Amino acid sequence: MKSFLILVVEDDAPVRTLITTTLKARDYRYITAGNGEAAVMQAASYAPDMILLDLGLPDLDGVEVIRRIRAWSNVPIIVISARSEDSDKIDALDEGADDYLVKPFSVDELLARLRVTQRRLALMQGQQSAVFENGDLKIDYAMRRAWLKEEELHLTPIEYKLLCVLAQNVGKVLTHKYITQHVWGSSWEHDTGSLRVYMATLRRKLDAGAGQSFIQTHIGVGYRMLRMDPEHSEP
Ligand code: CA
Repeated sequence: MKSFLILVVEDDAPVRTLITTTLKARDYRYITAGNGEAAVMQAASYAPDMILLDLGLPDLDGVEVIRRIRAWSNVPIIVISARSEDSDKIDALDEGADDYLVKPFSVDELLARLRVTQRRLALMQGQQSAVFENGDLKIDYAMRRAWLKEEELHLTPIEYKLLCVLAQNVGKVLTHKYITQHVWGSSWEHDTGSLRVYMATLRRKLDAGAGQSFIQTHIGVGYRMLRMDPEHSEP
């Protein structure tokens, strides 16, 4: 099997070097692009397994790069944003980015995000079944029932839907907008307050039985269901 190929899109040469040096040390293969147009072309020509995309590019907006690539590809995209580009980060996730890193980031953070995305890819490839399992959590989509440590969870229809949206995207950060649209439909008023309430109840039911936290909050962004893997647990 060929090794994992990562497209690194970054116009800032020192940051690009930091990333590629890190990747090289871990035996990842990579290609680079210094602007948005080149990124779209590289993505089309080389079909990378993952893209690390800086949002502040000299030509195209990073969000536009995602939109163009998403027109034909589901390749995982991790966006890299400066703190001043906070709303861009949310737009990027809404357009289909999978995860994000905020500058300045450490080599360890970069590697952690890469591992999470790689695991999610492997999981997606291996999981088209009607039963979802994650640690002690089990969902039977056909029966529309969920269990924690073999104990059935008593969920309202909204809580069940929320759980399914999170489970179907396990490991991925979902924005408030993405979640509300998938639970309530796109006509629903984007209401973070009520989402927070439902999420709190769901989380209480899950965490009480599990003694561990399944749902991670990204303040101002959204939520992520963590992949519960005893061998590689990490935030
Ligand atoms: Ca930049």
